[in-house]
Amino acid sequence: MKFVRFQSHERARWGRLDGDTIYELDRAPYDGSKELGRTHALEAVQLLAPVEPSKVICAGRNYAEHASELGNQAPTEPMFFLKAPSSIIGPGDTIALPSWQHAVHWEAELAVVIGRRARNVPQERALDYVFGYTIANDVSDRDLQKADGSFGFGRAKSFDTFCPCGPVIETQGIDPMNVPITLTCNDEVRQSDSTALMLHPVPKLISFLSSVMTLMPGDLILTGTPKGVGAMKPGDLIEICIPGIGTLTNDVR
Ligand code: MG
Repeated sequence: MKFVRFQSHERARWGRLDGDTIYELDRAPYDGSKELGRTHALEAVQLLAPVEPSKVICAGRNYAEHASELGNQAPTEPMFFLKAPSSIIGPGDTIALPSWQHAVHWEAELAVVIGRRARNVPQERALDYVFGYTIANDVSDRDLQKADGSFGFGRAKSFDTFCPCGPVIETQGIDPMNVPITLTCNDEVRQSDSTALMLHPVPKLISFLSSVMTLMPGDLILTGTPKGVGAMKPGDLIEICIPGIGTLTNDVR
């Protein structure tokens, strides 16, 4: 099933998407929602990011060829950093570059939406805690990432608009261990790989993370980006496609 968040009559709402019809829900679908009996036409609403997480957790260097393209070693254990939830924007929103001088990169990623409270979950049961999957762009200011060094990635990854998400959460039929991700910049393919190449697959990421912090319903885990990152410039159109979820489109200014 597909779930969306959308703006209608000046209010953000949740819904289940079936074809071009949205069946409005009384709350987030991972919070035990009920359908309200109201429908909306998809074309008549503005889609929002389909997530309201208490935290956004990102795996770093989770594809060997991406680690090496930035001159880094691939980590033997999962490596994580936090991204501010206030950086989230929705499909069709604009990525705002904070500086003309800095190299600000795209990073196409499969994103996991947690479905229930998870603490010390073993890998074998980790996928039971997943509500569904969406697409994210882990926008990254490489110059600040280098400059901040041991202070971590917090600043480089957390500017407003640095976490485009969407367009939907898909709860069925996505194999997180083998789904293709493609990113185009102005219709030119720049990233195209399978999540099968993850060094630490989704069950391991969830298990590892849940041994550190309690994962809450709605929390978002960005699972790392494959090779092919590159700098965005004003006027670019970035599209990320994962079959079954859809295409996340954002422009840049
Ligand atoms: Mg990333």
